[in-house]
Amino acid sequence: MHINIITLGCSKNTVDSEVLAAQFHRKGHKVFHNSPAERRFDVVVVNTCAFIQDAKTQSVDEILFQVERKKQGLVGQLFVTGCLAQRYADDLRESIPEIDGIFPFADLGEMLGDTHFDLLQQTDRIISTPKHYAYLKVSEGCDRHCSYCAIPLIRGKQVSKPVESIVREAEQLAAQGVKEIMLIAQDLTSYGTDLYQRRDLERLLRKLAQVNGIEWIRLHYAYPVNFPYEILDVMREYSTICKYLDIPLQHINEEILRDMNRGGNAAQIYKLIERIRDKVPGIALRSTLISGYPTETREQHKELLKFVEDVRFDRLGFFSYSQEEGTPAYPLGDPIKEREKNRRLEELIASQEKIALELNQQKVGSVLKVIIDSEDNRYYIGRTEFDSPDVDDSVLIKKKEKLKIGEFYPVRIEKADHFDLYGTKV
Ligand code: SF4
Repeated sequence: MHINIITLGCSKNTVDSEVLAAQFHRKGHKVFHNSPAERRFDVVVVNTCAFIQDAKTQSVDEILFQVERKKQGLVGQLFVTGCLAQRYADDLRESIPEIDGIFPFADLGEMLGDTHFDLLQQTDRIISTPKHYAYLKVSEGCDRHCSYCAIPLIRGKQVSKPVESIVREAEQLAAQGVKEIMLIAQDLTSYGTDLYQRRDLERLLRKLAQVNGIEWIRLHYAYPVNFPYEILDVMREYSTICKYLDIPLQHINEEILRDMNRGGNAAQIYKLIERIRDKVPGIALRSTLISGYPTETREQHKELLKFVEDVRFDRLGFFSYSQEEGTPAYPLGDPIKEREKNRRLEELIASQEKIALELNQQKVGSVLKVIIDSEDNRYYIGRTEFDSPDVDDSVLIKKKEKLKIGEFYPVRIEKADHFDLYGTKV
């Protein structure tokens, strides 16, 4: 059969879709990823997201789009899986009867005709990212209870994959030509606490750092409380571990951190950042902040703004608070007016844009190792070890000579703007 897997949401969903693709392929089916082709597919699987309201709307829109295509005879069977299926299977069944099958995670075996199928224990994947990089999920679920977050309701408790299985998956990816992996989880720094009754990210990193063919390993979704500093030693010891850390912090004000049930306090967070930068000089820090939390006052927003100016993150993403049913914060409502929420968000973004430009301008004149992701008619487009795909900056390289996609090159940086560097291969 010709099967098209449509993946929405986060990189963890991307990995799940890649595992499903390998299962379908093993059964002899021809699998496509996010194919826009106006052709007929025997099966379309929509792997949905339900993280926040906007994501739910996008998932329902995609399902309805495929229902229309089914009516036109372009889709044989329409299956839905992922977080929306996990959370709202009955509502979906009732409201969109044209869906042929709704498969929460535990029921994926039914879709595949393999009752023993366990999504998290699979290592075979057909990657959907450019062939030189891939995401590597080390655990699923989360044991924390951040007040605004629906993920524990959807993905359940943390389940870590065994170190051996993760290393095997990395070796299989390297054998497919992957040179760069992004380590992902809901809470990366708690890796192993369920399986090994201890934080075990350090041991995992030491093993992954020695996988032949993998040149860059990037860490995403670290958690600030009880931070395992020993992983920074591994980062310093192995050049294969990028000097990059994604550590969502969400806020800095004491009351808000308490209301968000994040644990920790402002002094600890400032100390953490200082220690990370001391232990790994030149490390790129990425974080995410939530603006407009229901109890956030103008003063507390200003404190967050000052935090952004003080810390000068290399990469910073912002979310405007989204009220999610079933979460501990839901009863607080969403009292801050949309206009005020947008104003706060704009102030944070404007402050970070200024910092991003200043930090990028400091790179002018330096020579950086760059991996080439793609090209357009004017430039090769690549990234440094300080940039993760799709979320961080790019390096635009003039097309003076032929460069290969997926290869590393030394590039002299000649110009910088807020989110891009411009340079020439040396
Ligand atoms: S750490 Fe908090 S924000 Fe992240 S997935 Fe867990 S509950 Fe959600």
